Amino acid sequence: MPTPRAAAARTLRFRHEYRDNHPGRYSGKLHAAWIAGCSTALIGLCILQIVPGGWHWVMAPIAFVVANFGEWWLHKHTMHWRFEPLKTLWHRHTIEHHNFFTETHMAVDSTRDLRIVLLPPIAILGVALLHGLIGIALGALLDAQAGWAWLLGGITHYLVYEMLHLASHLPNYRWFASLPILSTVRRNHWIHHHQSLMPDYNLNLTVPLADWALDTTDLQRNFWGVLFNRYRMDCLKPEVQQRIPERSFGGDAPPTHTPHSG
Ligand SMILES: [Zn+2]
Ligand SMILES: [Zn+2]
Repeated sequence: MPTPRAAAARTLRFRHEYRDNHPGRYSGKLHAAWIAGCSTALIGLCILQIVPGGWHWVMAPIAFVVANFGEWWLHKHTMHWRFEPLKTLWHRHTIEHHNFFTETHMAVDSTRDLRIVLLPPIAILGVALLHGLIGIALGALLDAQAGWAWLLGGITHYLVYEMLHLASHLPNYRWFASLPILSTVRRNHWIHHHQSLMPDYNLNLTVPLADWALDTTDLQRNFWGVLFNRYRMDCLKPEVQQRIPERSFGGDAPPTHTPHSG
C-alpha cells in the first residue's frame, strides 16, 4: 500500500493529466444548469398531468425506490465491473472518477472539474427514455396518470442522485454537517472513494437503502442508524476498519478531518 504522501501525489498527478487531456471548451455551470433545467421541467410536466389527491401518486415513491436499487446495481455491475460492451462506463467511473477523487482529495478545485462529477449531458435523455417507457407500459396496464407518476419518481431520483453526488465532491462547508441525509451521503461516498473499498461498499448515492438491504453498507447499524449516521465513524464493520488506513480516522466527521479534502 502506498504511503499517504505517495497516494496524494499520485492523485494530484492524475488530476493534472486528466485536465491536460480535456482542454476544450467546457462550462461546469452550464452542465449543471442543463441537468437541473431538464429535470425540473420534466418534473413540472409530470405534476401537471396528475390529479391532486389520487392514488396514482403512490407510483412516484415506488419508482424512486426501484431506481435506488437500479442505481446500486449499475454502480456495482457496470461502473466497477469491466463488461466489454459497457466498458466506457467502467473507464469513466473506475479509472477516471475514482483516480481523480480519492480519500485524500474528495473536492473539486473549480467548476471545470464538474465534467468528471456529473453524468454526461446526454444521460438525462436516457433516464427519461427508460422511465418514460416504463410509464407508457403502466399507462397501458393501469392508467396514464400512474405512468406520469412513475416518470415523476424516476426523474426526481435522477436529480437527487446528481445533487448528492455533486455535494459529495464539494469542499467541506461546515453547515453540511447539520444536514442529516447530505452529511450521511458525504461520509458514505468518502468511504466508497477509498481505493481498497470502492467495489464493495456504499454503492448508493441517493439514500443508502439498497446498501442496507443488500449488506454493502460499511456500517454495523440498523436502517435508521445507517440513514441518519451523518459523519459518525464509530460503527464501522470490523472488516472495513481493517481495510482503511489509520490516517482515514478523524473523529466524528471524517470528511472534515481528511487532509487536503478541501
Ligand atoms: Zn464520486
Ligand atoms: Zn464508484
